[in-house]
Amino acid sequence: MPKKLVPRWSDATRAIHSGEPRHGLNVPVTTPIIRTSNFNFADTAELKRFAEGKSKAYLYTRYGNPTLSVAEAKIADLENAEAALVTASGTAAIASALLAALQSGDEVIATRQIYGGSFNFFRDTLPRLGIRTHFVETSLEGVDRLVNAKTRVLYVESPANPTLQLVDLKKAAALARKHKLVSMVDSTFGSPVLQKPLDLGFDLVLHSATKYLAGHSDIVAGVAAGSRARISKVREMMIRLGGSMDPDAGYLLIRGLKTLELRVHRQCATALELARFLERHPKIARVHYPGLKSHPDRRLARRQMAGGFGGMLAFDLKGGLPAARRFCDRAKIFLLAASLGGVESLIVLPIYTSHHRMGTTELAAAGISPGMVRVSVGLEDAVDLIADVQQALS
Ligand code: PLP
Repeated sequence: MPKKLVPRWSDATRAIHSGEPRHGLNVPVTTPIIRTSNFNFADTAELKRFAEGKSKAYLYTRYGNPTLSVAEAKIADLENAEAALVTASGTAAIASALLAALQSGDEVIATRQIYGGSFNFFRDTLPRLGIRTHFVETSLEGVDRLVNAKTRVLYVESPANPTLQLVDLKKAAALARKHKLVSMVDSTFGSPVLQKPLDLGFDLVLHSATKYLAGHSDIVAGVAAGSRARISKVREMMIRLGGSMDPDAGYLLIRGLKTLELRVHRQCATALELARFLERHPKIARVHYPGLKSHPDRRLARRQMAGGFGGMLAFDLKGGLPAARRFCDRAKIFLLAASLGGVESLIVLPIYTSHHRMGTTELAAAGISPGMVRVSVGLEDAVDLIADVQQALS
């Protein structure tokens, strides 16, 4: 395709066109799924060149695959990254990124307000490898004091699952740079439509692509994006751990990316409307949504997120867990299901799902109350969603 026709594409155009061979006789309009585990070589000379790192040929789908390369080109473009990697899940991307940067004896500083699975990885898995994690608040207070000669990584998530607290990404990246730490951010809730952490100085941006990037609740997937050198190390670890994406999932991720911007903007608008409705409801104690004036990180959200505050929100009911369970059991349009970022609106109780392996003290420290309901806003009409909330609360 005439690559340089438009010098700098917008995100919507990049998501549709990046990485795709477009122009030419009978070039397919959609991305072919190269459903193969391995690739044929013409001769042993070419194989030798591959082994010496001199060939760009594909060898084996765990290492790379043309369908996955298209997905990676799109992700790299959307995150303003030199390179990107797709993986079998967000967890595979996170684990590969961390293990590529750490070895026994190292230490990590991480915010405690993160996805429960990531928290468990820091709390339970890394210590078995001799790697210790110090948890801090989203304010990053105390990081300077905790850094020592063993500290290697600063890991944050913003907005945080499920409390929607924000980390000042510019500040986090600068702190990491000051202490020569590798900075990593799980940007799943934000998506590259709303925030681009690499532009703010982060070394690596990670996503559960299961969520907004793929967007249709039909695959489990992950991505990492950053410099060519850093992604190459993460890829090497991913190859060793075996967390590669399947080409069929790669196709669905590519398809999802093409409508990412449309979906996220609509979800942001509906989420804001819903959050405002909930805040006025007499049975609601507190709504957590960065777009509300009452949110403690609102000013930061306005500075850091562009075009909206995301499609995720959470709320606490005055009646605590029993009231939250009643609400979830009565909702009709909202599905009671884990995960997020799809076209269907979902509700869930984090204490029973994303954060169920955390203890009472850990949950309280992360700001997760037993009766907190997490909402993933889909593409249904806001009027219908508000009516459903109203009837479920009545
Ligand atoms: N990061 C966040 C913010 C998540 O919500 C999740 C999953 O819920 C993950 C990472 C893990 O991603 P996956 O389930 O794709 O492994």
